[in-house]
Amino acid sequence: MVTLLEVREAQDMIIVMKSHATPEEVHGVVRHVCDLGFKPHVSEGEETTIVGVIGHSAPEQLAPLEFLPGVDHMVQVTKPYKLGSRDFRPRDTVVAVDGVRFGADELVVIAGPCAVESESQLWETAKAVRDTGTRVLRAGAFKPRTSPYSFQGLGRQALDMLDDVRRGLGMSVITEVLSPEDVELVAQHADILQVGARNMQNFSLLQEVGRSGHPVLLKRGMSATIEELLMSAEYILATGNSNVILCERGIRTFETATRFTLDISAVPVLKHSTHLPVLVDPSHATGKWRFVGAAAKAAVAAGADGLMIEVHPRPAEALSDGPQALRCDRFATLMSELAPLATAVGRTL
Ligand code: PEP
Ligand code: MN
Repeated sequence: MVTLLEVREAQDMIIVMKSHATPEEVHGVVRHVCDLGFKPHVSEGEETTIVGVIGHSAPEQLAPLEFLPGVDHMVQVTKPYKLGSRDFRPRDTVVAVDGVRFGADELVVIAGPCAVESESQLWETAKAVRDTGTRVLRAGAFKPRTSPYSFQGLGRQALDMLDDVRRGLGMSVITEVLSPEDVELVAQHADILQVGARNMQNFSLLQEVGRSGHPVLLKRGMSATIEELLMSAEYILATGNSNVILCERGIRTFETATRFTLDISAVPVLKHSTHLPVLVDPSHATGKWRFVGAAAKAAVAAGADGLMIEVHPRPAEALSDGPQALRCDRFATLMSELAPLATAVGRTL
């Protein structure tokens, strides 16, 4: 295992001098770099001189250099995230959950209701999605709701129901964990722990799910950059838990026609930057069942390793996220439409 310190040390910096910096100022920077124990590498351009800092450093060690006379700015060359980067591990990470392989050739579809509402609703939905070949069931026991007056989920009771379905139907289960104190409990009932968009930067939660050793599906915050998502993943990876799956679920933009805006280009960007599996949640991204299919297909075409889709037998009666839930029959239709698409991009479904 790589320690945090070893990871932290691998920073490379370039110091860009002002265009009118004098040779003395350049020399001053070089001397400081040496004094700090690093090797300077001076490169003189037509207009500007840059000084590369070679050696393992922590960002705060080099920060004072920016204040030296003649220095214009500094550029960090290496990425701020390490363990999640392709530089660190060029080959795709495969997260295996009971025979389901995230990040491998298969296109993995996770489906189920937003929330566990009752035993009958859970079983009905689970059977319907299982009959389409879906092997991973989603359903929230603890729901992060915008309003404290909205349905908050059935909590522990829902976890027990998920356990029954998991055993009864032989499906894997993913459910959200909202707080660090609940990680141990939820991990006893779920195969994958979901960290929701609103908790993407709940660092103590990230560390706790990391320490659980359980596979984690980390959703992108609605206002988070791709780099911030990767930094959050880094918190989990840094605990030694490499079973991290990322999920693009729509970001907040000025557009109001959809609930969020699916950042489809996040898929190729993430696949380029990180070795971790990348999923797309077209349900929260669009917020309207009518658009879920198109967004799901776009995600597959863009190279997503899988999808997470909300399904409800009677969306009109759903206690949360009904408008974006696909009816079971519509989900089955979508699955059959995804199959040739998966083949076209070299994946199996
Ligand atoms: C969910 O998956 O039901 C959910 C709450 O998602 P998000 O965290 O992306 O809003
Ligand atoms: Mn939901």
